[in-house]
Amino acid sequence: MNSYVFDFAQGSMEQRDLLGGKGANLAEMTRLGLPVPPGFTVTTEACRAYLKAGDEPPGMSDEIGHHLAALEATMGRALGDPTDPLLVSVRSGGKFSMPGMMNTVLNIGLNNASVRGLADQSQDERFAFDSYRRLLQMFGSTVFGIDADVFSNPLDDLKAERGVTQDVDLVSADLQELVGTFEQLIDKHADRPFPQDPREQLDLAIRSVFDSWNTDRAVLYRRQEQIPDDLGTAVNIQAMVFGNRGPTSGSGVGFTRDPATGDAGVYGDYLQNAQGEDVVAGIRNTMSLADLDQLDHESHEQLLTMMETLEQHYRDMCDIEFTIDRGTLWMLQTRVGKRTPEAAFRIATDMVHEGLIDLDEALQRVSGAQLAQLMFPRFDTVADRTLLATGMNASPGAAVGRVVFDSETAVDWAARGENVILVRKETNPDDLSGMVAARGVLTSRGGKTSHAAVVARGMGRTCVCGAEALDVDAAARKVVVRGGPTVSEGDVISIDGTTGEVFLGEVAVVDSSLVRWFEGDDVDDELVTAVATLLEHADGVRRLRVRANADTPADAARARRFGCEGIGLCRTEHMFLGERRELVEHLIVAEDSAGREAALAALLPLQKVDFAGIFGAMDDLPVTIRLIDPPLHEFLPDLTEISVRVALADERGERDSHDHKLMDAVRGLHEQNPMLGLRGVRLGIAVPGLFTMQVRAILEAAADHVAGGGTAHPEIMVPLVGSVRELDLVRAELEQTARMVEDELGVSVPHLIGTMIELPRAAITADRIAVSADFFSFGTNDLTQMTWGFSRDDVEASFFSTYLERGVFGVSPFESLDVEGVGELVQIATTRARAVKPDLHIGVCGEHGGDPASIHFFDDVGLDYVSCSPFRVPVARLEAGRSASTSESAGDGSK
Ligand code: PEP
Ligand code: MG
Repeated sequence: MNSYVFDFAQGSMEQRDLLGGKGANLAEMTRLGLPVPPGFTVTTEACRAYLKAGDEPPGMSDEIGHHLAALEATMGRALGDPTDPLLVSVRSGGKFSMPGMMNTVLNIGLNNASVRGLADQSQDERFAFDSYRRLLQMFGSTVFGIDADVFSNPLDDLKAERGVTQDVDLVSADLQELVGTFEQLIDKHADRPFPQDPREQLDLAIRSVFDSWNTDRAVLYRRQEQIPDDLGTAVNIQAMVFGNRGPTSGSGVGFTRDPATGDAGVYGDYLQNAQGEDVVAGIRNTMSLADLDQLDHESHEQLLTMMETLEQHYRDMCDIEFTIDRGTLWMLQTRVGKRTPEAAFRIATDMVHEGLIDLDEALQRVSGAQLAQLMFPRFDTVADRTLLATGMNASPGAAVGRVVFDSETAVDWAARGENVILVRKETNPDDLSGMVAARGVLTSRGGKTSHAAVVARGMGRTCVCGAEALDVDAAARKVVVRGGPTVSEGDVISIDGTTGEVFLGEVAVVDSSLVRWFEGDDVDDELVTAVATLLEHADGVRRLRVRANADTPADAARARRFGCEGIGLCRTEHMFLGERRELVEHLIVAEDSAGREAALAALLPLQKVDFAGIFGAMDDLPVTIRLIDPPLHEFLPDLTEISVRVALADERGERDSHDHKLMDAVRGLHEQNPMLGLRGVRLGIAVPGLFTMQVRAILEAAADHVAGGGTAHPEIMVPLVGSVRELDLVRAELEQTARMVEDELGVSVPHLIGTMIELPRAAITADRIAVSADFFSFGTNDLTQMTWGFSRDDVEASFFSTYLERGVFGVSPFESLDVEGVGELVQIATTRARAVKPDLHIGVCGEHGGDPASIHFFDDVGLDYVSCSPFRVPVARLEAGRSASTSESAGDGSK
């Protein structure tokens, strides 16, 4: 028979699937001999069974009974005993942490009788009634689903009546009065009394944790973090210890290193005379862990030792939750802590230097997405700025947007294209949709471990919290800045999550230090050193090469500074635009070959200069140049525009025959579906001389470069080939041109002629096409468009949000490769092509070449390189290294 319940002493950190992250880590801390209040875990398997059947699986309730009895025996007290009650907490805990998204109920076991027992035993009536009112409040809102305001309003009213501002200033009689009020409120809103039977309390609380797996906010969070929906949550039942038993008690959270910067040294917040929930909710402002030393030296020392033990054991930065109960320290949670991208790079390399991990493992601890975030611009510190307030630098980045005060407005305004900053006193889990929609989050209360900070860091959203100079009045839609202006909804502000500063209006942004370093500036900071170390290691281990998509000498040069190993895609469309458009018009309206040749001859020297610049920038590295691809009409005037011009001129009696021909050509070239029309190789075949002019320009420029002492490796790429016959036709012409250039200039430039694979037909017939190609490059943008039948210019803006919402796909297939469909075509084409040409050089140059998940796929398929935009080159280098490095990441693998 299945076991659905495990004692903390039975599990270990490897069992995250079954016990959830929290349960597995509680078990691990118990094994390590740390002071963990005893308890047991109801498994994720039980949750899955419950959610499927709508009821507890058979046997679960009995098992809970046995484990509860054992817990009671260990503690020497019975749950809810009227004379000396055992109280327990009931907490959720899935495989991946979902901070604040699911339910927690504390103080289970209190009722109208046992509250007296607790008062007697603790000699503290105030504490007993404070615990009971907390139970009623949490139970009412989480188990019975009563609006939290129903309880917080009478609490606030009572404080106002007593003339106090803090919960801790209420006396025992006040709390007894509140208990009565809360009981009545539960009667009224839940239509049933608060259960006095402790076991019924426990069972209802467990059910409510299971149910909370599927609340809207939990589902949204999982989608955002790409956590599977079918994992379910475990439930941890643990003997209560109390942080709210007066000044020698308290609760805190901590990190073994600074989660924002990665700096060494413990970091955290402590709140005297409070339960854990008070710390995370940011209800009162906290003190730092360092200050705890003054308050309780012994506990502080003990805490530091335990944090050190945990970091050494997990070999990673850990976060912890702890409670001090009348001078005794208890560990309530630990896990591998969430961190900012900067902290991730710095902690990983610091731990290599400390001998805790090796470089392969360090590489697994960072990601391309984090590196991309570090390359975002930051605020310009020399720009004119009006500082409104300074809070805590909770999650880095520079965000500018209009102020909004609630999630709904954030979502509405963002949907109409506005950048918004969500401004709140404090956030709670219901603000998630607003946080997703906003560019940044600003709160006036709470510390770096408040809900806002933790969630924002997790999703890479810029966040400043605890900016106390701000008086946020959401009802009046304004923020009053102490000693400063009033900011209303819709006003623009800028928030700096790296420094914690809040500015009025829009502040200019500048490049990140990392980008300046890539660009060759002499930047010497710890982040740059950490990134450089890991990139160097990635470069050393990766198999996949990284090229860049660059069309101009400036882009090519930048890509080279960012570490590319060649150009994988130089699009040539822009070489026909601007002032050259007129020459294209002449080419199209030419009535005979002489007119056509004259137009091409005029384009040739211009394009030759373009290519010369690129060969100069990429000396010695391969340069893949794609021949013209888009439909010709893209280079012609708009039909209405030319029709009006012709009509006006005709009316004035100034008939322009060139314009007439142009108008006819525009009409003639009009297509219903231009993406499926006369483009790519089809142009090369239908418009004589076009491709050969480009190839002549390429090879003449390359020859000049070689003659000047340089080295050039041109790779000529034919787009949109669907049949080997198409490639054969153009290849014959191109080879003839190459021979002519060689004869004329007396210089031989080695070059390759290959093709893009962008059509399903090309992928399927790759074995035939390979015979005529020197290389392949997957154009996964078109391959995705052609495989799904999606017009890439239209669909993302029209119905993709609905498709994402309805789960047709988890991420746009234009962003991350659709491995099942498009990926299968890539695999088929590679296998078939290499069956006839085992050494065929194959790369990818669609947008997916810079996407981390896709890069791992291309590496697995055995492609030779990925090509991506210059800014993604470092990301691709890192991810290719991560893909090649086989070391498993240690720790609990928190998402
Ligand atoms: C592609 O289709 O993936 C590609 C790189 O070409 P383009 O985006 O220019 O069509
Ligand atoms: Mg394409």
